[in-house]
Amino acid sequence: MVMELGHKIMKLSMYIGGEWVEGDTNQKRKIINPATGKWIAEAAEGTVTDARLAIQAARKAFDEGEWPNLSAEERASYLLKVADKIDERHDELMALETIDNGKPLREAGYDMSDAAACFRYYAGLILAPHGETYTVPDNMQAMVVREPIGVCGLIVPWNYPLLMSVWKIAPALAAGNTIVYKPSEVTPVTPTKLFEIFEEVGLPKGVANMVMGAGEVVGNEIAVSDDVDMVSFTGGTDTGRHIMKAASGNMKKISLELGGKSPNIIFADADFETAVDYALFGIYCGSGQVCSAGSRILVEESIQDKFIARFVERANKIKVGPGNDPETEMGPLVSQEQMDKVLKYIQIGIEEGAKLACGGYRLTEDGYDQGFFVAPAAFIDTKPDMRIVQEEIFGPVVVFQTFKDEAEAIQLANDTKYGLAGGVFTQDAAKAMRVIKKIRAGITWVNTYHGTYNEAPWHGYKQSGIGSSLGTYGLDEFLETKQINFNLNVEPIGWFAN
Ligand code: NDP
Repeated sequence: MVMELGHKIMKLSMYIGGEWVEGDTNQKRKIINPATGKWIAEAAEGTVTDARLAIQAARKAFDEGEWPNLSAEERASYLLKVADKIDERHDELMALETIDNGKPLREAGYDMSDAAACFRYYAGLILAPHGETYTVPDNMQAMVVREPIGVCGLIVPWNYPLLMSVWKIAPALAAGNTIVYKPSEVTPVTPTKLFEIFEEVGLPKGVANMVMGAGEVVGNEIAVSDDVDMVSFTGGTDTGRHIMKAASGNMKKISLELGGKSPNIIFADADFETAVDYALFGIYCGSGQVCSAGSRILVEESIQDKFIARFVERANKIKVGPGNDPETEMGPLVSQEQMDKVLKYIQIGIEEGAKLACGGYRLTEDGYDQGFFVAPAAFIDTKPDMRIVQEEIFGPVVVFQTFKDEAEAIQLANDTKYGLAGGVFTQDAAKAMRVIKKIRAGITWVNTYHGTYNEAPWHGYKQSGIGSSLGTYGLDEFLETKQINFNLNVEPIGWFAN
């Protein structure tokens, strides 16, 4: 089934105002399977005009439509139906994610299950009471009510094409907003299927709109538009900076989930094999194209030789291959462009004087030569100011750093502009807690890595972002607060002389 899908050219249209449309210019973009280099889909290429039409549809659905005024139960019932449909189509969506993004089926399968669970989580959360009342002086009753923000522009990257989208779409819709959504131009396949599901469950027209196309065109129009009330963006830090500026025209609310260069700190007293295992998982899962990747491994000096030797031994055994081969443990990079960027960073690392302990080359033998495969790489002999230590590579490339004591571990951990995530491996609980409390990052792990749950916020410090996804915090992002002061004593105030 997977191979069949790989050979059928899918036609992907945009979804605006409840209609499937080909766009203003009828131009198409070729979508490529990164494991084979083959053309798998043809996506409509949106323009500024298309983005404006989608924004107008969302504006109308918010200002004049029923969606914001439905009861929370009614909105939740749509979300629950969407979740069920994702589960029903789990295997199909998993296979499509794999041929579009390249990730192994096992990873794609988790993403599809998590996407359904996220819709269910927000369907439940929106039913919880929202708002407060206060007893205040002056015979007033003060109330705080939560209201949807309006039209939300949602822009996402390619590394979790469906799941990153759902992290935004589910809470935005639950809260009663209408949306204009833009997937990555590289990975529009599963997002299109999600919009098919929206149509199947009868989501009112105009509530959810999808425009495909280039970020600089469609994404920029969403960010600058005066008719958009909020923009929620996930992507690189430099693009996030651009979004901030673009969104400033009408002072729209922004929420930014950005890049990372996260430290994974291994103390000498850690359970050795557990630490090695999670260090590998932390960087090579998703081929390193994960915002929270543990892309800097900080090892205590006394175990560094043993740790690096074992890490390299295991990294060399990782089965790299097409995602739809059940034996594959690590897939290709998402695109030629991303592979070129990663290989360029490997070259930079070598020129900076760091040493490659393993991998770092493109796989070119038969079966790999048309895909974008890079062998898992690890740099040793690094220095803190090297570009490969400071900059997000977003590929299967890790840098090793060493530390003498707890203080140096913390100092190195915090020594980048990013603050997304971090891990600590030790069997000393007090030390783990001391270090975690000093790490300037929003997502942290002790003796584990990468796991995250719908209940807890996903949030970056420093240049890793503004605002949160997931949890109650993720819903709050899509709600306004309004105070209502209700006079219980209806008579003139008498402030000015009569
Ligand atoms: P980009 O920042 O390049 O792109 C992200 C999205 O923004 C894409 O849809 C892109 O469109 C769009 N975009 C690009 N330029 C503009 C613009 N000028 N105005 C509006 N939108 C624009 O990131 P990548 O797709 O390369 O994704 C990788 C990055 O995402 C990494 O830095 C990673 O750390 C980060 N990320 C962060 C996460 C987090 O939770 N903190 C989670 C996942 C990823 P186009 O289709 O043209 O690419």
